[in-house]
Amino acid sequence: MIQLSRRASLRLAASVSLLAAAPARGQCVATVAGPCDEGGGRAAGQAQTVAANALLGGLTAGMMRVAHGGRFGGAFVRGAAGGALVYAGKRTVVHRFYGAGLLGRQIASVGSSVSYNAAAGTGALDRLMLPVGPVRVYVSPRGRRTVHVRVDAATLATLGYVALRRDNAFDLSATLSTGAPVFRHYATPGQVDWEGAQVAGVVQLRHAPYERTPGVVVSAAVREYVDDVAAHERVHVLQYDQSFLLWSAPAEDGILQPSRAGRALHRWVDLGLNLPLWAALNEAVGHRERPWEREAYFLSRSSPEQIGGRPDRR
Ligand SMILES: [Zn+2]
Repeated sequence: MIQLSRRASLRLAASVSLLAAAPARGQCVATVAGPCDEGGGRAAGQAQTVAANALLGGLTAGMMRVAHGGRFGGAFVRGAAGGALVYAGKRTVVHRFYGAGLLGRQIASVGSSVSYNAAAGTGALDRLMLPVGPVRVYVSPRGRRTVHVRVDAATLATLGYVALRRDNAFDLSATLSTGAPVFRHYATPGQVDWEGAQVAGVVQLRHAPYERTPGVVVSAAVREYVDDVAAHERVHVLQYDQSFLLWSAPAEDGILQPSRAGRALHRWVDLGLNLPLWAALNEAVGHRERPWEREAYFLSRSSPEQIGGRPDRR
């Protein structure tokens, strides 16, 4: 295990913070795709994004370790390494090849697991969380139970609600490729004010009502547009996973483990307390000011204007 002195830990934390903040002081204020999105601006944006994810994992792990009487430095470094792996997963899910979502989601989940383990003071790979739809597979190579499964209650409830909507259709192919449930939502632009939505790891993509007719073929431009929206939503799925393992999982451990009934429930169920957290954050921060939206736009190389309306306007 890496042990750093307090001064070295603080210096490292300050360096990562500066790296995360650096592009914000220059011309490229936002990492949302824009005039400074190419060349040096793009590279600076990537550096900012990896630093932000590393900082999130590092600070969370370090502070939780300190709260449990441990040392900040080692947990910060390991948590930051996990955060950097989450970034690698986010870079992967925005690719357009089949299965990019599934692959990137697992990479990012290993990263968040490393940060979780750093916060818990256990070995980096002692417990891995691998999400499969509404279920999480927990793999503990050295534990008494090597593999066990829990269902995320928030994801299950969302899945039920979305699946029962009359204007939704389950998209099996997109689901397998994304590694998360994907539904086609048939509506006109006037009926809903969104093109894609992600709630608790469940994705909906708006399609024009005429596409519901079997045999209908949409143009290449429309297919490309829907792919862009889907790539953006895949980043949000990973953000949901990240918020679960960094914040919700430790909180749920603390709430459920002390009581017998809590432990019995937690054996099979994750509550998904990060869902109300996301609802509150989305309520409190305007769309364009949200750092998580900026990240999703930046990584998927899109902008609110580009994925704000289909090329065929239907
Ligand atoms: Zn978004």
